[in-house]
Amino acid sequence: MRKLIFLPLFIGIGIATAQDEKLDLDMLQKIRNEGLNNSQVMEIIFNLTDASGPRLEGSPGFFRAANWAKAKLASWGLENAKLEPWGEWGKGWELQKFYIALTAPYYKPLIAFPKSWTSSTNGVQNAEVVMVDAKDSAGLTAFAGKLRGKIIITPRTDTLIPSYKPDATRIADSALEKMAEYDPKNAPERPRGNQRGNFRALMQFSNQLKELAKQEGAIAILTTSPRNAEGTVFVQGGGQFTGGSPENFLDISIAYEDYMTLQRLVQHGISVKLDLDVKSRFLTDDLKGYNVIAEVPGTDKKLKEQLVMMGGHLDAWHGATGATDNAAGCAAMMEAIRILKAVGFKPRRTVRIALWGGEETGLFGSRNYVKNHFTDTTLHKYNADGDRLSVYFNLDNGSGKIRGVYTQGNESVKSIFSQWLKPYNDLGASTITLQNTGGTDHLSFDAIGLPGFQFIQDPIEYDTRTHHSNMDSYDHLQADDLKQAATIIASFVYDASQRDEKIPRKPFTPRQ
Ligand SMILES: [Zn+2]
Repeated sequence: MRKLIFLPLFIGIGIATAQDEKLDLDMLQKIRNEGLNNSQVMEIIFNLTDASGPRLEGSPGFFRAANWAKAKLASWGLENAKLEPWGEWGKGWELQKFYIALTAPYYKPLIAFPKSWTSSTNGVQNAEVVMVDAKDSAGLTAFAGKLRGKIIITPRTDTLIPSYKPDATRIADSALEKMAEYDPKNAPERPRGNQRGNFRALMQFSNQLKELAKQEGAIAILTTSPRNAEGTVFVQGGGQFTGGSPENFLDISIAYEDYMTLQRLVQHGISVKLDLDVKSRFLTDDLKGYNVIAEVPGTDKKLKEQLVMMGGHLDAWHGATGATDNAAGCAAMMEAIRILKAVGFKPRRTVRIALWGGEETGLFGSRNYVKNHFTDTTLHKYNADGDRLSVYFNLDNGSGKIRGVYTQGNESVKSIFSQWLKPYNDLGASTITLQNTGGTDHLSFDAIGLPGFQFIQDPIEYDTRTHHSNMDSYDHLQADDLKQAATIIASFVYDASQRDEKIPRKPFTPRQ
């Protein structure tokens, strides 16, 4: 274990100026030792992935993982460990059986995955593939009466472009430097395209096609994109999941190479048949959504009413076991609190961990938690409990190690976080950027002016291979990166819980 060299800034705590953070070097050394040398992060993640299965919100796998996490947190001595309902969410869904193969003009297994909340076939079906070549709803009418018992594809005009870039990457030093220098005043305006409009039109057509397919008694629709290549299939939701919504038409994400084989055969006038067997189960007994919550109560008379929060989302898309998205973040957060308990953590402020549900469908778990706990009746600004929240730390960008922190434009935390990261500069974490980052649960806090932060992480294979795909499994995790992340998070939570003042907030104007 390397001996730490601390900068003179941290020597002589008694003479620290207002800008200097008082750091408990002894404790930080213990945290580092526990996190890097006695880590349990991979054992935690095994339980959230391989042992629990896919963790779609409301599915049996989600509850296996949530209940395991609750019990584990309680076993470490955390208090009030529970699954806390956050409101009505919708139906659970689980895939129980799936088989798809080409049977004519010859036999070939296909790589595919049904989208969540879509319906079953009635046992094995051997069905012909039909090409629905229509541009709009008027074009669709030509297919009335022709879809019964068929599997539908629509024509694609794209081609597969091989990638000459590596799947796995780390953030280059030059990119980190740019992030550190980022000034919101000089940020280029986002180009405004018609993308959203095009997307809406595409979705509308897809819904009309599925509606027709359902009415006509078709069996399934196959969908793909050039991203679904090389054995990696990206798969998410196939429609509505609210309690009263009808079952969605069976929609299957299939490998691009397989899809294009079917398309070329059909276009050559060759009859194409598939065997298809899908059995899925909807769970409608409990439509509530849940977060896993546990805490270490504060010990300082004045500060124990205040709160430091840490978390990540536990729910995941169902194509694999959501290892990098986001068992990694949950395990790093759990491991961080385990590290803190192991080194005899007696926080001044109360520390609360939250493993959120419903993130993938729209940050529902964290948004509703913030709404239930921290907002006033207008829901646009925080209440007295929100005022007592010091900070929320989130991890949800995969398995890569922490390189720094996105401050969401909060100038006043730059120097604080930069000092907190100093002891970990040698582990590759040193960048503080004013940049915003989106897409995950810190936004639920940021939206009402509460300090919520996501760490900068190396992407590894997140964007290229694992995020929302059938490859998001344990083997794509980086153990050393996760140990580093958990150690840094433990130390940030420690620093935040012991600091004399709460984390400063950025100027914020609530919506009216
Ligand atoms: Zn995620």
